Amino acid sequence: HVVTRFAPSPTGFLHIGGARTALFNWLYARRHGGEFKLRIEDTDRARSTEAATQAILSGLQWLGLNWDGDAISQAGNAARHAEVAHELLAAGKAYKCFSTQEEIAAFRELAQAEKRSTLFQSPWRDTDPADHPDAPYAIRLRTPTEGTTVIRDQVQGDVTIRNDQLDDMILLRSDGTPVYMLAVVVDDHDMGVTHVIRGDDHLNNTARQMGVYTALGWDVPVWAHIPLIHGPDGKKLSKRHGALGVEEYRATGYPAAGMRNYLARLGWSHGDDEFFTDAQAQEWFDLKGIGKSPSRFDFKKLENLCGQHIAAADDAALLHNIADFLAATGQAALTADKAALLEKGMYCLKERAKTFPELIEKAHFILSDRPLHPDEKALKNLDNVSRGILKELTPHLHNARWNREELEAVANRFADEHDMKFGKLAGPLRAALAGRSVTPSVFDMMLVLGQEESIARLNDAAC
Ligand code: GLU
Repeated sequence: HVVTRFAPSPTGFLHIGGARTALFNWLYARRHGGEFKLRIEDTDRARSTEAATQAILSGLQWLGLNWDGDAISQAGNAARHAEVAHELLAAGKAYKCFSTQEEIAAFRELAQAEKRSTLFQSPWRDTDPADHPDAPYAIRLRTPTEGTTVIRDQVQGDVTIRNDQLDDMILLRSDGTPVYMLAVVVDDHDMGVTHVIRGDDHLNNTARQMGVYTALGWDVPVWAHIPLIHGPDGKKLSKRHGALGVEEYRATGYPAAGMRNYLARLGWSHGDDEFFTDAQAQEWFDLKGIGKSPSRFDFKKLENLCGQHIAAADDAALLHNIADFLAATGQAALTADKAALLEKGMYCLKERAKTFPELIEKAHFILSDRPLHPDEKALKNLDNVSRGILKELTPHLHNARWNREELEAVANRFADEHDMKFGKLAGPLRAALAGRSVTPSVFDMMLVLGQEESIARLNDAAC
C-alpha cells in the first residue's frame, strides 16, 4: 500500500516548485491506488502563519491535488516527538547532553583555530548518568562513528555518506522542543509514509533522518529526491524569470489541467508525450521517468499546453471556468441567456485561447450588448466606405437561410460582385458584429448570434 505526502512549511505562498513536488506525490499515490497525505510543517512558530497555510491549501485545491484525510499539523504532534526522543534515551540510542550554547560555540572556535573538524563532539556521550548534573539537557542521537550511511535514492542512485561526518544531532532541545529532523521521521512513520518524494535540497537531511530510522529500528521509506527547477537561463528559478507563486498562475487564468500537465513534464517524462490528460498521467507516472538534472521552466511550453487543454476541455466545464473567472475579477455575472450563447459558441472560442481571459476576450461579441462600443481598431473598419458596404450586404442576409454554407455563399458572391477580396468584407463585419478587430470567424459569430441579432448589429454599424 503506497502512502505519499506533501509536507510544506507554511512560511509563504505555494511555490511552483512545491506544487510540482505535491503533484509528483499525488500522481504516484493515484497511480498505485494509494494515499496522498498533507502535512503542514508548522513547527517554526515564528515563521509559520495561518495565511500561508490557507494559501497552500487553496493552491492545492485549485490544482486539483486532493489529499486524503485531514491536513496534519506537525506542531500538533510535538508531544509524540518528545516521547520518541525519550524512548531513544531510555534505549541508550540517545543521551543527555548538558553542554551549553557557550560551550558549543567555544568548541567550534577552538576546532576552527586548530583546523580540526568543527562537528561538535559532546563530552557527555559516554559519561555515567550518576555524574550528571541537575541541569537542563538536550537529547542527542548517538550516531555511529564508523561505517557509512547509504541513501538508496530512486532518482539520484546510491548516495553514500561517511558516518564520521555526521555529528550527534540534537533530537530534543533543552527547552523540551523537538527538532525538525526528528519530527519529520516520526510523522512520516506514524502516517505510514512509504515513499518520500521531495526536492533534492533535502538530500543532506536524509542521511541524518536515516540515523533516526535506524536507531528506532523503523523501515526507511523509498526515497526520491527530485532536482530543482531552473529558469530558462539555467539559473535557479527566481522572480526575475516570472511568477513563482501558484496563485499568480491561477490569477492569470491558466487552466489547472494545463498547469498539471506542464508541471508533470517539468522534470518527468514519458517518451515524447507532451500533451496528456490526468488519466494518462496517473497511468504513466513513475519514478524512473524523473530526470537527474534540473529542469528548465519554459513559459512558452506552459502556454502551449494550456491552449491545448482549453481546446480539449468540454464546453460546460469551460463555461464554469469563465463564470468563476468573471466572478474572481469582479466582472458582471453571466445571465442565463449569455451562458446559453457562450455554450453554443464555445466550439469557436476555445480554439487558440491559452488562458481564460483570452477566452473571455474572444467571447466579447457574446458578452456585449447592443449598441456595441467598437474599439479604436474596429472603428477604422467602419469608415464611410465600409459602412456603405455593410448597408448593401444586409438585404442579402435577410433572405439567407442561416447556415454556414449559405452565409459563406452570400459573402463570396457579394465580394465577387463588388470585385473585392473577402478580407475587405471581413474587417467591417468583425467590427459590426463584435466591435473588435480580432474575433472568431465572422461566420461563427453570425451563427452563434443568430439572424436577427446579427442583422441588427450590422444595421447599427451601417448608419
Ligand atoms: N517542510 C519541508 C519544505 O517545505 C519539506 C520536508 C520534507 O518534504 O521532508 O521544504
